[in-house]
Amino acid sequence: MCGIVAYIGSKEAYPIVVKGLKRLEYRGYDSAGVALMNGDLRVYKTKGKVSDLESAAKDADVSGTIGMGHTRWATHGEPNDANAHPHLSLSGKVSLIHNGIIENYATLKEGLEQRGHTFTSETDTEVLAHLIEDVMINSGLSLADAVRASLKQVVGAYAIVILSKDNPEHLIAARKGSPLVVGIGSEAGEYFFASDATPLAEYTKKVIYMKDGEIAIVENKEMTIKNIDNVVQVPYVHELEMNLEMLEKGGYDHFMLKEIYEQPRSIYDSYRGRFNAASGTFHMRSLEEYSEQLAQIKRLILIGCGTSWHAGLVAEYLFEDFARLPVEVEYASEFRYRNPVLFSDDLVMAISQSGETADTLAAMDLAKRKSATVFGVCNVVGSSIPRLSDAGAYTHAGPEIGVASTKAFTSQVTVLTLLALGIAKARKTMSDKEISKVMSALEEIPDKIEKALLLNDEIVKLAETYKDSRNFLYLGRGYNFPVALEGALKLKEISYIHAEGYPAAEMKHGPIALIDADMPVVVIATNSEHYEKVVSNIQEVKARKGKVIAVVSEGNTSLDKIVDHVIQVPETIDALSPLVNTIPLQLLSYHIAVMCGCNVDQPRNLAKSVTVE
Ligand code: GLU
Repeated sequence: MCGIVAYIGSKEAYPIVVKGLKRLEYRGYDSAGVALMNGDLRVYKTKGKVSDLESAAKDADVSGTIGMGHTRWATHGEPNDANAHPHLSLSGKVSLIHNGIIENYATLKEGLEQRGHTFTSETDTEVLAHLIEDVMINSGLSLADAVRASLKQVVGAYAIVILSKDNPEHLIAARKGSPLVVGIGSEAGEYFFASDATPLAEYTKKVIYMKDGEIAIVENKEMTIKNIDNVVQVPYVHELEMNLEMLEKGGYDHFMLKEIYEQPRSIYDSYRGRFNAASGTFHMRSLEEYSEQLAQIKRLILIGCGTSWHAGLVAEYLFEDFARLPVEVEYASEFRYRNPVLFSDDLVMAISQSGETADTLAAMDLAKRKSATVFGVCNVVGSSIPRLSDAGAYTHAGPEIGVASTKAFTSQVTVLTLLALGIAKARKTMSDKEISKVMSALEEIPDKIEKALLLNDEIVKLAETYKDSRNFLYLGRGYNFPVALEGALKLKEISYIHAEGYPAAEMKHGPIALIDADMPVVVIATNSEHYEKVVSNIQEVKARKGKVIAVVSEGNTSLDKIVDHVIQVPETIDALSPLVNTIPLQLLSYHIAVMCGCNVDQPRNLAKSVTVE
């Protein structure tokens, strides 16, 4: 979480840093701050958004060709001016921005306090700024060596950038556990640093994804990357496949709405070129290279957090149905701290939009240590999860900026469908003909989503009716139970309305007590073998005067007289129905949130990629 941007070169740094922070603001928006170097070191910071920082620095001297900025997602200390980054050392000469958590900050702080240090914030970050200066003074080390020596004492996760008044031509950056990307500028000595590649796309296509334990030192127009033991590293320079248009709102009011509407395209991009429906064959490296191993695996464990965990739940049904594999779906944050029983013929699949989710990374690491094969399903190219995976597949949904995930979810489900089919082929649990049939149905999904998006006006009216409800229930069965969970999560995330997702039949075991005439209940009742059962669950809600919004398959009018509202969606096979059925639920949460005056793209307390545990 949190966004970091830094620049060193011959251009003015402030506009580059501020623009970059705005692109990264989806990562955190508790406070914003910059440090600029122009002979002197100047720091401006404030609680609130990047726009608040701009107002605060309106009349200030923001000149300088070296600068760095931060948007915070608070972990230690409330969001206020004092806790905003950059933080300064005791003398005020060393300035530092940080993404992550210094877990042993209390111990380090105690030692520093004994040596006379006093602190102005409650953050873990300020301690590191003091420590670096303390090491520099007491050991007589250069700035870069002092950073390295200090980081050796740190337990936790960090991406940091450091500027120092006494080293006016230097910029030092380091990472462990939190992402940091370097952009190589067009002129000699020009470098950009950021938490992800989005702020860099308009300046350069050449990027280096820093590895854990690496420190980048820019001095005298040269950058050297070393590891924590001072050994020079040879970085791999990637070509960035991201253009500016992908990062703009393109005429929509919010990124979330744009991303909802992008789904016909993003789903297509997720499967494009990866199979041939006529022959039932695949072109996916992970399936080809691991085909023998995949035929032998005994169990699949899907790991994720939040919406990615929901994609994992949909995949549980897919892998059981298609590949006849025993499947477990785990919250990464729980899995990593259990003592899970894993075998070398287990396949672990980690699902994450950002590829930087701290808990998911730790869970993968644990699975690898316990000798399981680890696949990654991830959206951000070059991020940590694909690098830690044995194999896997990118979702290719394009940058997702809205904090509430939409297109990344449907792309994850698409890619997991392909992997389930591919593993079914390797395990011979489906015939080529059966595989072809699902592939052909998948090829129709983008058009069906296009049609589902036409429901928008209908859903606006629905949102008007229910925007003042304080509780919602979402029910689904089978493949659509995870869709109910995802629908409820979307509403909670962006409108702050309490919502629960439940398996429809499970309602009787508790949540039915909540139902009264004020309780809207969204029921996914599209055609499936459970349809009649779901209708019975609807009757149970109606018998208690609940308001039912039923999502049904196109042409189904049989519930018109029973429920309060019917949303007809295009029909597909049950296994692919989550892709279509999610769309009206995304739109419903979006419109309710807008009508409630909520900040849809930057909901309170949330950040896009959760890089702290
Ligand atoms: N732990 C630091 C803080 O609370 C950094 C949090 C972040 O990643 O934004 O200030």
